[in-house]
Amino acid sequence: MSGLYFLGTGGSVATAERDNTSLLVKQGQELILVDCPGSILQKIKRLNFNPLKISAVLITHIHTDHVYGLPSFVHSLMFEDFLVRIYGSEESVDFCRKLLDMFHLLKEGLKIQIEFLSLKPGERAQLMDSLEIRTFRAPHHSSSLGYHFFFRKARKELIYSGDTATDSLIFKEAKEKDFLIHDCSAPSRFFQEHPSLYSMHTHSLELGKFSKEAGVKCLIPCHFFGEFKYSLAEIEEEIRRSYQGELIIPRDYQEITI
Ligand SMILES: [Zn+2]
Ligand SMILES: [Zn+2]
Repeated sequence: MSGLYFLGTGGSVATAERDNTSLLVKQGQELILVDCPGSILQKIKRLNFNPLKISAVLITHIHTDHVYGLPSFVHSLMFEDFLVRIYGSEESVDFCRKLLDMFHLLKEGLKIQIEFLSLKPGERAQLMDSLEIRTFRAPHHSSSLGYHFFFRKARKELIYSGDTATDSLIFKEAKEKDFLIHDCSAPSRFFQEHPSLYSMHTHSLELGKFSKEAGVKCLIPCHFFGEFKYSLAEIEEEIRRSYQGELIIPRDYQEITI
């Protein structure tokens, strides 16, 4: 049985309802963590999962809201007999190594074992017997990677864009796929007011249009900016102007069955 659990669904500015975006992917008893902002252990425990079941941490990029909780995550588990693999681009993995080293979390004598594994765009990695990933480029930051998950048992595919500007290659990757979790930072009017956003993020009107063209089966918009005032009804309305497939606008702690 596979499932997705949102530990956060917000952008870099958290709100009372939404923390920075991160995701747990569950396959059988094992867990994969995608990005590592704050209070990860507490969030995992709140969902009644065991953090020691995390076999891999995938980092999308090294902006603060996606990695700042990593030292705390490792620190909390440093005396556990636990191996964690940290995957990301070379730049992300180097950054994570430096970040953990700065907090003296790589020194001898700690029980936790950490492996750093860097991936190039297009490279594959087998995370578990029946779960494989393939990375792709995401135009957002020099360290950015998106992740394409292949759930072999469930025969489902999930594309996780991470933070990204709208990019036709990502929608090619997502063509007729089961799930697309995509940057949807704000409704279009905020991008018109702040045009610099176009090179970094995606708005809901464009996300709907591209998802329709790609024939995405289930669209899950995410990474909602907390610094702008808008309702999720506005996001939904803009997406629905073109996209008519299944749409899930996730809350923090929401579970989605694969
Ligand atoms: Zn972000
Ligand atoms: Zn970012």
